[in-house]
Amino acid sequence: MITVDQLRPDYLERYRPQLIGGLGMLLRDGAVFTEAFQDHAVTETAPGHATILSGRVPAHTGIIRNLAGVQDSTAPLVGVAGPGASPARFQGTALFDWLQAAEPAARALSVSRKDRGAILPVGRAKQTVYWYQSGIFTTSRYYADSLPGWVRAFNAQRLPFKQAGALWTPLLAPESYSEPDSEPYEHAGHDFTFPHHLPTDSAQAADTLVDVPTMDSLTLAFALAGVRALGLGGRGATDLLAVSLSTTDAVGHLYGPDSREIHDQVLRVDRYLGWFFGQLFVRYGPRGVMIVLTADHGVTPYPEWARAHGYRDARRVSVDSIVRAVNTQLDALAGGADWLTFDTGMLLVPDRAKLAAAGVDVDSVIGVVAKRARAVPGVARVQRPAELVRADTLLDAVSRRWRHQVPPDAGVELVITLRPYAIWDASVPIAMHGQPSDLDAHVPLIFWGRGIRRGVNGRRVRTVDIAPTLARLLGVAPAEPLDGRALAEALPPAN
Ligand SMILES: [Zn+2]
Repeated sequence: MITVDQLRPDYLERYRPQLIGGLGMLLRDGAVFTEAFQDHAVTETAPGHATILSGRVPAHTGIIRNLAGVQDSTAPLVGVAGPGASPARFQGTALFDWLQAAEPAARALSVSRKDRGAILPVGRAKQTVYWYQSGIFTTSRYYADSLPGWVRAFNAQRLPFKQAGALWTPLLAPESYSEPDSEPYEHAGHDFTFPHHLPTDSAQAADTLVDVPTMDSLTLAFALAGVRALGLGGRGATDLLAVSLSTTDAVGHLYGPDSREIHDQVLRVDRYLGWFFGQLFVRYGPRGVMIVLTADHGVTPYPEWARAHGYRDARRVSVDSIVRAVNTQLDALAGGADWLTFDTGMLLVPDRAKLAAAGVDVDSVIGVVAKRARAVPGVARVQRPAELVRADTLLDAVSRRWRHQVPPDAGVELVITLRPYAIWDASVPIAMHGQPSDLDAHVPLIFWGRGIRRGVNGRRVRTVDIAPTLARLLGVAPAEPLDGRALAEALPPAN
């Protein structure tokens, strides 16, 4: 399971003639779904990764936003300082649990630069799960109390620290890139042209590595070391390898989806995956490997780019001052800390009962926020969750995505959707995702390998269809009701 963080499917079309590696192989010989979507509203990394191998939408996995994703102070990292993490908020089961119930010998290895990218694809399973922090790959106490020999040996090479002073230069000759390389809105107005330099200080270089393609190469090298050490796929059982590559997201945020940098990044992911698949094939032969490729979300262009290309609604939007003002009023009325939280389109009232007990008419407070938010330029819709139930789920994609997003018990009282090409302000001027728009929800989806029917399919499908499709291919039964359905177009005709 390969997840490329923030990979938009139109990149694969734009750069297709130059994709001669792993992405090219999947496009040529796989079951390609051109209209696949993360079909929920808050198109962020944690909710997206949680759908991929669970077959369930955020309203059912309980992972509804990054800021309440895998953070867990009771599960500190092993051998390095950094935020603790675990799947404690993930509800229910995922593909690996179903696989292990059928094949007790099955094992999973999940690797990413990001904690959420590594943890969520395998649900709550206490398997081998590693991510990157300050120059090393590590895990949390949820999974292990110490790092095994192969991880310590990999970390001991200190590869990230040796990148001090390294340059990121374009892979191909300048004429191979049609994008301008000098847009001054990129990267907060500095260092927006090639080549990009990593710091000469080795610890700073190890931290800044997350913004350059080499990080993805390193992640795949680490995954391969794990495959070898664990004997994955060579023990007579079906094993699961999940890799989430994070640099496309970093480059997309910093330079935007229309930059020369994102073009070069995708070419490099193509080459890295080509190498990686080749290494797996040497070990197992191509018929011993099944591959799925998707993304956790897409991205909306820089508003500066979008306005220059005729999208007048493109702007950065914030309702923080509205929420702050209401919180100040509630504070004076009922005391206490911030009663309302706003995050990526969701207004949360975590303690509605306590607020009501203090004599506050909560619905009228939410009504005030809604009225003020509707007047903010760039806001398209402000909806109460109760209204979403009445919406047409086929014709109204925005309401459908919000219904897939919001669990009834999460304290979400209001959802706000922006106009096309508008984004939530992120305190630093970057390109953003997180909307229930097709720009942010449209993702690639390709199945490849033995038993998978090659072809290009244009039917609208969803990332929650991945787990049931793999379950069918592997002959295992999901342990609970799913939101997704097996994709017949990818399955052998007899299936
Ligand atoms: Zn992401």
